[in-house]
Amino acid sequence: MTQDFSQLDRNGRLRHLITLDGLDPGLIRELLDRAQGYLCLPGQLPPRGGDLRGWTIANLFAEPSTRTRASFELAALRLGADSLNLDVMLSSRVKGESILDTIYTLQAMQVDVFVIRDAEPGILELVARHVDDHVCVISGGEAHISHPTQGLLDALTIQQSKGGFRDLVVAIVGDIRHSRVARSAYRALTALGVAELRIIAPEEMMPDTGEFTGAIRCRSIDAGIEGADVVMMLRIQRERIAGSATTDLRHYHEQYGLTAARLARADASAVVMHPGPMNRGVEISSEVADGPQSVIRRQVSNGVAIRMAVLAHVAEARGRRMP
Ligand code: ASP
Repeated sequence: MTQDFSQLDRNGRLRHLITLDGLDPGLIRELLDRAQGYLCLPGQLPPRGGDLRGWTIANLFAEPSTRTRASFELAALRLGADSLNLDVMLSSRVKGESILDTIYTLQAMQVDVFVIRDAEPGILELVARHVDDHVCVISGGEAHISHPTQGLLDALTIQQSKGGFRDLVVAIVGDIRHSRVARSAYRALTALGVAELRIIAPEEMMPDTGEFTGAIRCRSIDAGIEGADVVMMLRIQRERIAGSATTDLRHYHEQYGLTAARLARADASAVVMHPGPMNRGVEISSEVADGPQSVIRRQVSNGVAIRMAVLAHVAEARGRRMP
């Protein structure tokens, strides 16, 4: 974000959620606690609420999405909002309409929250600067830069699995250079005081040295996951790498794929995470993805709860409720 822009309102509450960068750890913990209250046991009916009754949420996703988009839509519906999914690839944007004209059009239909995923850095802030005062903008993933609700759901999953962050060693493995998930996980975990963060990647997938300050960099997955409490796997972001079709996937799996044999190097009670979509047999074997240490589906459940928490928070902060 640029210096003169803030996603917080004057009370320090979220007006928008574009990044976890600089977010107060107390506010992050508050969102995690709030999300915890929206969870239920498998088979139970999911908690609902009326916090967003009368609100309209529009999902504008200009990149593919399964989990994030579905969970934002369910979160809005479970909180009583109207939810609109606009397929941006089929909207007037492909006819040359600017993103701001699309936003103004939907704003004229009384949309109160825009959830936006875009491949262009800076679009989220641009929109947030131009919406009406009562309107909120929430990131559903911005280029390789930021995926704040993913960072929050990852933090919640780790908190549930491990009870806290202070003594934890977290290893993030894969295409970190092109990953908004890794960047937001880094921000959340650093804010929450994680003991040690390791980033493990081949040279071309390692971020520049100015990023991930304080993290231990490692080329070898075998050395990097040794004794780790959490192993977070990432897919190769082929859409962000020119010429990536030439990546030898079998070789990549041999070098960086998480197999059961490799996982045995991590702590015996380590959990395995993956934001999805998974490329089985590339960055992770099915044996591990479906194995007892995997919390990948728990991440998905937590995703709905985190998105409910964020929506309820911004609605509360705006103070607009149905009479
Ligand atoms: N679903 C995540 C994202 O949107 C991770 C991925 O696509 O690899 O960034």
